[in-house]
Amino acid sequence: SRARSGAPRDGGGADDTGEVRVKPVVAVVGRPNVGKSSLVNRIIGRREAVVEDVPGVTRDRVAYDASWQGREFTLVDTGGWETGAAGLAAMVARQAEYAAQTADVILFVVDATVGITDADEAVTRVLRSTNRPVVLAANKVDGGLQEADALGLWNLGVGEPFPVSALHGRGSGDLLDAVISALPATHEPEEEDADDLPPRVALVGRPNVGKSSLLNRLAGEDRVVVDSVAGTTRDAVDEIIELGGRRWTFIDTAGIRRRFRALQGADYYATVRTSSALERAEVAVVLMDVSEPLAEQDIRVVEQVVEAGRALVLAFNKWDTLDEDRRYYLEKEIDRQLSRVAWAPRVNISAKTGRHMERLVPALDASLEGWNTRIPTGRLNGWLKELVAATPPPVRGGKQPKILFATQADARPPQFVLFTTGFLEDNYRRFIERRLREDFGFEGSPIKLTMRIRE
Ligand code: GDP
Repeated sequence: SRARSGAPRDGGGADDTGEVRVKPVVAVVGRPNVGKSSLVNRIIGRREAVVEDVPGVTRDRVAYDASWQGREFTLVDTGGWETGAAGLAAMVARQAEYAAQTADVILFVVDATVGITDADEAVTRVLRSTNRPVVLAANKVDGGLQEADALGLWNLGVGEPFPVSALHGRGSGDLLDAVISALPATHEPEEEDADDLPPRVALVGRPNVGKSSLLNRLAGEDRVVVDSVAGTTRDAVDEIIELGGRRWTFIDTAGIRRRFRALQGADYYATVRTSSALERAEVAVVLMDVSEPLAEQDIRVVEQVVEAGRALVLAFNKWDTLDEDRRYYLEKEIDRQLSRVAWAPRVNISAKTGRHMERLVPALDASLEGWNTRIPTGRLNGWLKELVAATPPPVRGGKQPKILFATQADARPPQFVLFTTGFLEDNYRRFIERRLREDFGFEGSPIKLTMRIRE
């Protein structure tokens, strides 16, 4: 396969304004040794060895996917934040501050067998000054003997203590019920597309690049060609075409087969037609004509695909016309003009001779796979932590922004949300995107990266 170019490129719609729906965030706070990690393990049902909850021990992960009673949320263990702060109380207060900035609900863990300490009080002061809902866990209530200890935690003044034993699992159901009922109301997530339907492909490109020739080649020449008189058939006609032993839905084939180029305003009409095809497609094949220099219009179609957030395959057609000379300049043009989509698979084809038709399906598959990729929150954060430790974000206005944790809010296309304490420069976000691609693939798919900074 093609070598990945290291050229910087825009993340395809990476912006700070788009509100991405993320799962609600529950942050677990509390001083070291109260059992935060054990409780996190208990909630996410992890069977791995419990990480010892002592100061200075760096954890490799901070955020996890969790659910209770069918309600999904991101569970954040704040234990690893700000370990350098001077003094225990200052450190946990700082963690609580970050938690209050990023979380929807705060799960405050106290050791019932020890009772209220200075550090617990420091956390309480921070939590009182925010308006985030707090659920109080009285941990280490392993048996009836400690029940009375739990009652003593009413004195913190942050509400009812829920007696739990992270070690044995006791009481965690009631605790989670309380967490769930404190979560903000959400809308039902939109239904994902059924998996068994044929993937939807938009074949796009400026006029005359060979779209209808390719379609005929793929569908078989004998197919009924939709009326070629413009305006007679207004409806989009999708065709199901079998390729590589599977079925694919080609979107708006009527639009491809009709001749636009004689019409006035054809360019505009073609652009509108392209975007409505993209709207309904999962993956787009952008067809280009190598017998001519790449045109601005070709680039614009590619950009339309990226902006629509669709998987992308670049198909260079009329390869049969290519001579050595043209080929040399073509490579230059591609490097220069299509560097922004260096992640997209390419196929060099000829609709006329049938050259490399068999390469289309693997390219479509690769792009769809990249487009559908989901990275579990725990894995993403383990990766991110290493990345940020090796290359921290640049200081801005005298402050070093911290990336507290990240989550993949969506796929199709993959969308990531970084929870930060400050603004991350475009360059740094592009760096993260580049590394995401290097380490996780996402071939053929745009990636969206947004930040969440709560004041
Ligand atoms: P569309 O406007 O994108 O649908 O393009 P058409 O399929 O109508 O093709 C435009 C012109 O390019 C026609 O004259 C085709 O015969 C020609 N053409 C299409 N594909 C190829 C190809 O692979 N090689 C060559 N040499 N000509 C092609």
